[in-house]
Amino acid sequence: MGEQRQILLTNINEPDQNTLSAAESRGAYKAIRKALEMDPLKIIDEMKASSIRGRGGAGFPTGLKWSFVPRDTGKPVYLITNADESEPGTFKDRALLERDPHLVIEGMLCSAWALQSNWSCIYIRGEYAYPYERTKRAIEEAYEKGYLGENIFGSGFTHHMVIHRGAGAYICGEETALIESLEGKKGQPRLKPPFPAVAGLYGCPTVVNNVETLANVPWIIENGGAAYAELGVENSTGTKLVSASGHINKPGVYEVGMGYPLLQFIEEECGGIKDGNNLLGVIPGGSSTCVLTADECKGVNLDYDSLKNAGSSLGCAGFMVMDDTTDVVEAILNLSHFYSHESCGQCTPCREGGHWIEKIFRRIAEGDGRPGDLELIENLCSQIGGHTICAFGDTMVLPYRSFIQKFRTQFRERISEVLKGIERKRNPMDFEVGGVH
Ligand code: SF4
Repeated sequence: MGEQRQILLTNINEPDQNTLSAAESRGAYKAIRKALEMDPLKIIDEMKASSIRGRGGAGFPTGLKWSFVPRDTGKPVYLITNADESEPGTFKDRALLERDPHLVIEGMLCSAWALQSNWSCIYIRGEYAYPYERTKRAIEEAYEKGYLGENIFGSGFTHHMVIHRGAGAYICGEETALIESLEGKKGQPRLKPPFPAVAGLYGCPTVVNNVETLANVPWIIENGGAAYAELGVENSTGTKLVSASGHINKPGVYEVGMGYPLLQFIEEECGGIKDGNNLLGVIPGGSSTCVLTADECKGVNLDYDSLKNAGSSLGCAGFMVMDDTTDVVEAILNLSHFYSHESCGQCTPCREGGHWIEKIFRRIAEGDGRPGDLELIENLCSQIGGHTICAFGDTMVLPYRSFIQKFRTQFRERISEVLKGIERKRNPMDFEVGGVH
């Protein structure tokens, strides 16, 4: 059973932790010194032994991903940190980059040595102005101290690092869209294979890892992969940062051991539901995961298998809590507007279908819903999922389907109000329908 543990947030609230001197006084850059004395392949073995899975949402085993990188192509190997954190409900990477950027830089350095990469990039979402400034300054400090550049710690290893701001497109969090964007093209996902490990940035072997994933690497180097694997539960090792938001008393970023009980998390870490209301449901993994009703949350733990068995997923742990005052129709309309706006437009089912679904949710919310609208949305979902280039289409339909399935009564009631001639005084959404649809 998971418990509350601190690996990544140990120093997050310490004063000046964003500066190199303060971070180093608390142990930063010890792991890279140790790593540089290790065989790079041994580090990959430690990552495999840790069984850590990527924290960006897909949950792919990190050590395995690294082992796919060919070492004999004669081409450079690139390491990219995916800091394009744009999933609604997710803000954990922001906390690391803003408050403890040297932890991320050190994790990248250790990873770069393991991959024999001499060049890395942090791709950060455009809206993250403050984390960008903090991390950029931290990179400068590391260069000034000789921790980046040539002959790092006298090892002969050269590594250069840059930070690059995106322009604010959600889809650039998808690794191949991110690579396209870095190459100066439109941020649109590529067809796979080939995968980036073989042909990524400029056609060279490339590893793209999430911020949180790489921030774990120094601890794994210092303590060993086996020690990491002992934390958490089977199939879900280590700790997990959770971005908690919604109708809770203490929204924020929390670190828990994998397997931590979901309802206990709401009560003990998040301070319970606001205003004494009751729990309606939780979107546990970020907006692209299925909603769980209050009943379904019972006995569920925050780990990959438990959430999968409950019919949802851990995703990137963008944990959104809804109490029983929530207007579920407005909530899913808000999400559908986001997905409709953020489609990159390459695939017709995603580009058109997503927009149509938003229009139907909007007419239901605005009091113009028609009999058959829910079935129409479900039909559209079945024509989007599995028929697109990237996972955006597959995951977009998960909240739509689950909201309709689990809160069907509320949707039906809203539609029948119209049929009965009941006038609803709707508080209009505070956004305009945007985009180029
Ligand atoms: Fe673009 Fe959507 Fe197709 Fe992904 S699924 S490539 S976001 S149109």
